[in-house]
Amino acid sequence: MRIPFIAGNWKMNLSVTEAVQFLQAIKGKLPDPKVTETCIAASPLFLESMLKQSAGTPLIVAAENCFYEDEGAYTGETSPKALQEMGITHVIIGHSERRKYFNETDDMINKKVHAAYRNHITPIVCCDETMSRRESTNRISWVVSQVTNALQAITSEQAKNIIIAYEPSWAIGSGKTATTDEAEEGCYLIRQTVADLYSDDIANQVRVLYGGSVNDENADDILAQRDIDGVLAGGASLKPDSFLKLANFL
Ligand code: PGA
Repeated sequence: MRIPFIAGNWKMNLSVTEAVQFLQAIKGKLPDPKVTETCIAASPLFLESMLKQSAGTPLIVAAENCFYEDEGAYTGETSPKALQEMGITHVIIGHSERRKYFNETDDMINKKVHAAYRNHITPIVCCDETMSRRESTNRISWVVSQVTNALQAITSEQAKNIIIAYEPSWAIGSGKTATTDEAEEGCYLIRQTVADLYSDDIANQVRVLYGGSVNDENADDILAQRDIDGVLAGGASLKPDSFLKLANFL
């Protein structure tokens, strides 16, 4: 019953002009959102133009990050309140690049999840898994702890709308996709953790995505897995054609 969710994460790529041209190129070619929801996360600099350009289309324009306070003396940060005011409905939180380059901790990520809900924005929470963790014996507890920490004090009413992405950082931008079994296992672990924290009913409503070198060649197998409800694609979302292929897979 879960509607698949196909998301692009542009990261710090493209320009505002290119973003607008991209949206013009995909106009009228996206699937019915009752069948598949589509989303692109972009820099806050692009969001206003993207919202204008995609008005009346099914595309969800998302932010790639936000801060955990609504306002104040936080030079350079993106206010979740301002995002909501401009019409943003989804935000990526805790991407592995944020954890790695900007030292985001589980605690900060949890505060950001609260900030998103406080501002009626759906969080797309990323759950990382580094190669050293993957090779260590405590892989399961690592994935479980990230989900558990991100969801601290989040109510079941809030949790049922969350989107969680399993994004092993060794697979991001490396061309090294997880095998379908590895991807399914990570997403299954996430769903089981949500079931343990809340209930089977909530776990069955939560959408879990796989991210890490997804492209139009491997998406088919990935999307066929039981616990994978969609993808979060970086490189493959930068060209209208490849994004449209992913969006129209199902
Ligand atoms: P990639 O990025 O598809 O380029 O590996 C995925 C992500 O970072 O979300």
